[in-house]
Amino acid sequence: MLQELQNYFKSGATLPYSFRQESLSKLEKMVKENSTQICEALYKDLHKPEQESILSEIVFLLEEIKFAKKNLKNWMKPDTFSTPLTLMPAKSSVHFQPLGVVLIIAPWNYPFQLALAPLVAALAAGNCAVLKPSELTPHTSKLIFQLISRTYSPDYVKVIEGGVQETTSLLEQKFDHIFFTGSTPVGRIVMQAAVKNLTPVTLELGGKSPVIVCEDADLDLCARRLVWAKFYNAGQTCVAPDYVFIHESLKDEFIKKLIKEIKNQFGQEAQKSQDFSRIVNPKNWSRVLDLIDPSTLIYGGSSDQETLYIEPTLLYPVQWDSLVMKDEIFGPLLPILTFSDFSKLIQQINDRPRPLSAYLFSSSPKKHTEFIEKLHFGGGCINDLLIHLGHPELPFGGLGESGMGSYHGVTGFKTMSHAKSIMRRYGIFDFSARYAPYESKTLNLIKKLFGLK
Ligand code: NAD
Repeated sequence: MLQELQNYFKSGATLPYSFRQESLSKLEKMVKENSTQICEALYKDLHKPEQESILSEIVFLLEEIKFAKKNLKNWMKPDTFSTPLTLMPAKSSVHFQPLGVVLIIAPWNYPFQLALAPLVAALAAGNCAVLKPSELTPHTSKLIFQLISRTYSPDYVKVIEGGVQETTSLLEQKFDHIFFTGSTPVGRIVMQAAVKNLTPVTLELGGKSPVIVCEDADLDLCARRLVWAKFYNAGQTCVAPDYVFIHESLKDEFIKKLIKEIKNQFGQEAQKSQDFSRIVNPKNWSRVLDLIDPSTLIYGGSSDQETLYIEPTLLYPVQWDSLVMKDEIFGPLLPILTFSDFSKLIQQINDRPRPLSAYLFSSSPKKHTEFIEKLHFGGGCINDLLIHLGHPELPFGGLGESGMGSYHGVTGFKTMSHAKSIMRRYGIFDFSARYAPYESKTLNLIKKLFGLK
């Protein structure tokens, strides 16, 4: 299988600008023409509300394609640099060359967008690709297989459906890059498999993304945005706010506002809301419910096994050592903790694995600076949540246990390219001093020039 893609890549067919533009246009057309089927598959897999599917899966992807098409010519141009005097005369440049055949492994939570957004980067950069959608969202996986098979020849882009077994055998093969989106434990497995062939990897993983709400925050706005972000896709978002730290002095007022907002957005009974997703499968449904400590349950907590429903739930008071604070929640539970010292809180968060995102609500520019400079996390927002992801010029990725490497826009193009440095030299001014036999007077001159004894 891989051989066919490698041969196609070697043929050079994917190199020209016109070919890459056409590939992106085909993808754009495919998504636009099939948006209804895409939404239907997402509804079957995750009970995803149509508006969430349209915005976070389809429009998001179309914007990424549009941006790549608009900028591709520029991205493909070599970067040029002036040459240091000592290396003159020469022309110095960096050329972006496609890597070859890229393996893209996708998760289930945004199963369409997270499979195809890395593909946009791969194709814009002139690669061939093998795509492995998540087996946990079978309707979307099947649809991706059908649509991609109709859009591209299988020696250019190929979809392999399946789970652990199929992914394991794909990982045994020698790809030129592996782009993995998923959990940290499986990220480790992927990286270990890549070691054998020294295959470069991009790991887009998860983690516990904190929210800090300071005493000078706009509480109404914060409650509205936090409820939206936490319960979007029922909390199954890699950059979802995992837990919130509210300033001690505001906790009661804040909790009241959160409850009011949940009711505003999802009604008295969220189970009846058309705008609230379900948990992906029974295993995750039980896992999330097991994280609820009844002594901290202040809102929500109801569930339904048959429909994999879990109510938007607030937990308070929660401590660093509570069970729900151990791993990424990835479900509609919001643990609430309190703080009094902002700088100390930043240190405490820094003592834990690096999160993929972090969010601050505060009107103080001083706190904004401290948050940006002192807290370690992949990327985030101040006075909002999630939306940094939608900006095509902002690189998206984690660090430490939340991942390595990044993509979106030109960053994705560069992730999927090799940056090749070239110095173009000419026969003029061929200084004899660099060739043996070396002379002591030249050596002395060099030492003098660089301030050496
Ligand atoms: P996962 O790691 O279980 O699965 C991801 C992919 O890996 C799937 O295609 C699956 O088939 C494959 N896989 C699973 N187990 C494997 C194994 N043992 N060997 C080889 N392949 C295997 O992740 P998930 O449950 O699909 O997604 C949820 C996780 O992904 C969360 O941690 C979330 O934070 C993270 N995530 C990160 C991003 C991001 O952009 N950083 C986006 C979405 C989700």
